[in-house]
Amino acid sequence: MTAARSRIPEKWQLAFEAYQERMESGLVFGGAWLLLVTVSLYHVSHTHFHIHRSDLSQAELILRLPLIASILLALLFHWTGLPRWPARYFLRLMGLSLSGLALSLLFLFTKHEPIMVNQVSDAMTIAFFGSTVLSLRSFREWLLIVALPVAVFGIAAGIAGLPKLTLFAVFIGPALIMFVTCILMAFARTVAREGFIARESLSEMATTDPLTTLLNRRAFMPLVQQERARAQRSQVPFSVILADLDKFKRVNDTWGHEAGDTVLQKTAELLNDCLRRQDALCRWGGEEFLILLPETDAEGAMKVAEKCRFHMQELPIPLSNTSITQTISLGVATSDGSEDIDRLVSRADSALYLAKEYGRNRAELAGPGQ
Ligand code: GH3
Ligand code: MG
Ligand code: MG
Repeated sequence: MTAARSRIPEKWQLAFEAYQERMESGLVFGGAWLLLVTVSLYHVSHTHFHIHRSDLSQAELILRLPLIASILLALLFHWTGLPRWPARYFLRLMGLSLSGLALSLLFLFTKHEPIMVNQVSDAMTIAFFGSTVLSLRSFREWLLIVALPVAVFGIAAGIAGLPKLTLFAVFIGPALIMFVTCILMAFARTVAREGFIARESLSEMATTDPLTTLLNRRAFMPLVQQERARAQRSQVPFSVILADLDKFKRVNDTWGHEAGDTVLQKTAELLNDCLRRQDALCRWGGEEFLILLPETDAEGAMKVAEKCRFHMQELPIPLSNTSITQTISLGVATSDGSEDIDRLVSRADSALYLAKEYGRNRAELAGPGQ
């Protein structure tokens, strides 16, 4: 695991992965265009302004083919979504073919046309800058698409007996650019990561109740709206349950506000344990919770409400030096999606009121016209 990943909290790993993928997709497109322009300019300048031995020009052209192929593949991916690989694979392909091109040119010229080697140094500076930028995700990517080809080149140069001093002189400029670009990319990664964390924290603050970590009312409403729209389309009803702790004020008065907070937290957990994966629970306000039960009729919803009530009654909540049994009253309302959400919640509230009236620690079902 890279340092970049380890600093992102576990709960945001998936979102961070998607964020990185978006950034990398953007870089695939921008990078492919820039490389295409650079390769074309390079080609024009070398065809018209430099005179090479024809066998090296041919070889140069052939060496450029993997880069051109990877650019075209990257553009195809951008426009058609095919092949369905992660964006970083295209960055790797472009980066590797770019580093590979620069290093094989260096190899070729040092061996066959040493007088032209200085020109290759310029091309290498651009190439190493480019492939270092393409290693956007992590330093590990840089090792793969820049350091690895350089190491392979070093071994090949040693075997071929290329002059070390010439190579060293040629490498100074590109190495310097690579070093500076590596630092800039590390900085860019930190900025992107911090920005991501700040955005996620803000969005969490806006959608989550800090005490119970449940969704708050604002984040919950779109889920209910969505379920209402689904019910209208499919004609399968859904239900909501409004739950309110019984005589909760007494808990605060007797054991203190902190104990009251603990009871609220524990209640959130206990209610969550009674729900299916597709259900949703929110802190509606104070000591009230709202449950959304998708595709659930009145009978099913009453069963869930009864389960919640029973669970609360049977499981005492431990406090610092005692444990208390906190009961709950629930109002259930079912809808076919025809009424608006305020009306639905208001019916659940009326049913809850009845449950309190009838003695608390019970669940009541709202009638259609309640
Ligand atoms: P009932 O059975 O009729 O619902 O009685 P109740 O005492 O539960 O209802 P009431 O509305 O009189 O009191 C609700 C209490 O909930 C009062 C308020 O201080 C407490 N409360 C609301 N939010 C919080 C919170 O975040 N933390 C704590 N500790 N208490 C809270
Ligand atoms: Mg209450
Ligand atoms: Mg209340």
